[in-house]
Amino acid sequence: MSQTKVYDTIIIGAGIAGASIAYTLQQKNQKVLVLEKESIASGGSGAAGAFVSPKIGKGSPLQTLTNEAFAYAYRFYTTYFPEYYKQTGVIRLPKEKEDARRFDSYRAYNYLPFSDYSQEQVESLGFHTSFDGFYFPEGGVCEAKAICEAMLVGCEVKLHEVKQLTYDSEVWHVDGFYANNVVLATGHQNHLIDVRYMGISGLWGERGDYQTALQLENSLHQSLSIGASENGMVKIGATHAKGVKSPSICDEKRLEGLLHNAGKLIDTSDFTLLQSHCGMRSGSRDYMPLVGSVIDVAFMLQTYPQLLRGAKPPLKYFENLYIYNGLGGRGFVFAPLLAEELSKYILEEKIVDSQVSPDRLFYKWCRKFNK
Ligand SMILES: Cc1cc2nc3c(=O)[nH]c(=O)nc-3n(C[C@H](O)[C@H](O)[C@H](O)COP(=O)(O)OP(=O)(O)OC[C@H]3O[C@@H](n4cnc5c(N)ncnc54)[C@H](O)[C@@H]3O)c2cc1C
Repeated sequence: MSQTKVYDTIIIGAGIAGASIAYTLQQKNQKVLVLEKESIASGGSGAAGAFVSPKIGKGSPLQTLTNEAFAYAYRFYTTYFPEYYKQTGVIRLPKEKEDARRFDSYRAYNYLPFSDYSQEQVESLGFHTSFDGFYFPEGGVCEAKAICEAMLVGCEVKLHEVKQLTYDSEVWHVDGFYANNVVLATGHQNHLIDVRYMGISGLWGERGDYQTALQLENSLHQSLSIGASENGMVKIGATHAKGVKSPSICDEKRLEGLLHNAGKLIDTSDFTLLQSHCGMRSGSRDYMPLVGSVIDVAFMLQTYPQLLRGAKPPLKYFENLYIYNGLGGRGFVFAPLLAEELSKYILEEKIVDSQVSPDRLFYKWCRKFNK
């Protein structure tokens, strides 16, 4: 091993998860190698509208975490990547009457700063609605692919599909590459190591970029997202296409449906499709992100068969193997904060928040799903 180059960390996958942890570790003087099978942001990250906004709701743990991440992301992007973050402000609108009633109960939990926008105010900004909404001025939009590429400037990136991972003599062997640590940031594709207990699954979505003369100063979220106009272009995106199991080409019919639904919110009469993007976003079983060590499932099941009956023996992890996944529909919101947390875990052994540690899902999976 003495003549072989051993990286501090190999990161597998160059979406927003892989790019943000590579950037963060590199800032901390770590020697990193990023291995990506297609191209930077070729997965869900490249398809994303990459809207960055707070979450509304009644103070759930996911909302609290999302809003903490949003505050961090806002500072991070405006400080380090201002050219790739457009602060458009984001309007949130109810989907229907029942949702509008719920908005009243959300107000007390809203991320600050925010403003109440009346229906008239929202309409004056170019959106059709029968409801009042919220306005979050710090919200905005990332240039999805460009910001991933920018984070990877100065990092070693190789186009390579990783087929095998083995740990030998205290070093990870990643096909022909070597590292002390490995971070799995492979989105919805997770064939390299048994991580079934995390319940990672993909949700398909589309984004259309349209040429239009429509001038929108703000972005808007409802059941879909509409971006503020930029250089005569507006992007519309949504990830709700359940049942698409594996990546396929962008479905024109679904894009038409997306445009049709957007037409209820804005004037789409002159919209011409410039480019379509589609992809899978990966989420965990409980919608919380997955950041931390990876449990050696085979060892645990062989050593402790009583796991299936509800026992909770001590966990055994793969040495220096980490996962960064489950960012759901908010990869660009979570990425900066969680990359910082993961880097502290890797470098300083600072325990990650138990809400995002994948450990939370293991015992239950053994009992319920591993039959
Ligand atoms: C249509 C759409 C709209 C979205 N809108 C938003 C939004 O507005 N705001 C927001 O914050 N988020 C949004 N998201 C969600 C966001 O895109 C995801 O949270 C994000 O993509 C997660 O990033 P990731 O790096 O975990 O996964 P990915 O971006 O999927 O990256 C995984 C990478 O790993 C690579 N890979 C996999 N296996 C291997 C292997 N064996 N070897 C090498 N490389 C490998 C893949 O090629 C891929 O590039 C949207 C998603 C979609 C699909």
